[in-house]
Amino acid sequence: MKIAIIGVGTVGSAVATAVKNTGYVHEIVLYDRDSMRARAAADDLGHAASFGFDVKITATSNYRGIRGSEIVIIAAGANQKPGETRTDLLNKNADAIRDIIPRVMANVDSKSVKIIILTNPLDVMVMLAQKLSKLPAARVIGTGAMLDSARLRTILSRQLGVSTQSINAYVLGEHGDSSVVDWTSATVGALGLDDFCRQTHISLPASTRKTIEHRVRNAAYEIIRGRGATWDGIGAAAADLLRCIINDEHRILTVSCVSGTGTDVVAMSLPRIVGTSGVIATLRPKLSSPESAALRRSAKIIRKNYDAIM
Ligand code: NAD
Repeated sequence: MKIAIIGVGTVGSAVATAVKNTGYVHEIVLYDRDSMRARAAADDLGHAASFGFDVKITATSNYRGIRGSEIVIIAAGANQKPGETRTDLLNKNADAIRDIIPRVMANVDSKSVKIIILTNPLDVMVMLAQKLSKLPAARVIGTGAMLDSARLRTILSRQLGVSTQSINAYVLGEHGDSSVVDWTSATVGALGLDDFCRQTHISLPASTRKTIEHRVRNAAYEIIRGRGATWDGIGAAAADLLRCIINDEHRILTVSCVSGTGTDVVAMSLPRIVGTSGVIATLRPKLSSPESAALRRSAKIIRKNYDAIM
């Protein structure tokens, strides 16, 4: 399997590292408008690959070099600086997507290619990329709230004293400030979260839940304040999504893709079954009425930002 990564800055490099360590791809081609950076990353990563799986890592200064890629990961564009929100990146990164998508589409097989979007503001970029590529919505996928859900599970794992692997808890909606924690559907092992807390005598009152939501939403800001950017989490999330697609795993992931009808068409994160054909099905969890209202609000924010760049 050959894949391409467009944009080889902090995130693109982290994704390439995580992907090469899965052993699921035999070739990774890197493109960046800064061709020296792409070449340097390919060299460095190529040397690293010689210690593990035999992955060919090359750089290209021309989109023709991505030909034959079955999955294209877009990690190009400006990142948040301390104090900036993801929405602050809207216009700059819409220009990057407008530049990239037609060139990608001219060099891939439109009948089967999958595009994975990492560029922020993620959900709006998924909508734009899907429109420009003219691909079915199921094949233009954003990692979306996979990362936010991982952050939620990590916090809950420490709070509850169980492995993240035993916690099914999802963040929905925007990969951004209006994301929604779905407490109603959260389970720990076979138990609903409330039942688990009752049986283990753990108190998780509304005030603690609010604090957890705040920590999930602010995780990226904290990381950016401390280390200038975020990369390890998104690298792992992108590699996990890639693995799910390549192996046709049919796992349920909170990814973003365009769905809905009429004026409700929007890309946002919902639990979706993902496999080789992309998003296979979208699931609608049973939410409390405040959670439903928050999800509708989140969808409206994404749609408004999308309309602003169209
Ligand atoms: P960076 O500045 O380190 O790298 C961006 C790279 O994109 C640069 O190498 C630049 O040359 C390249 N680039 C810009 N425009 C391009 C174009 N038109 N064509 C080709 N290459 C282009 O930034 P980063 O930290 O790697 O972040 C990249 C993106 O990923 C940002 O939008 C950031 O917000 C986003 N991000 C998303 C998540 C997520 O969970 N989805 C997490 C972290 C970062």
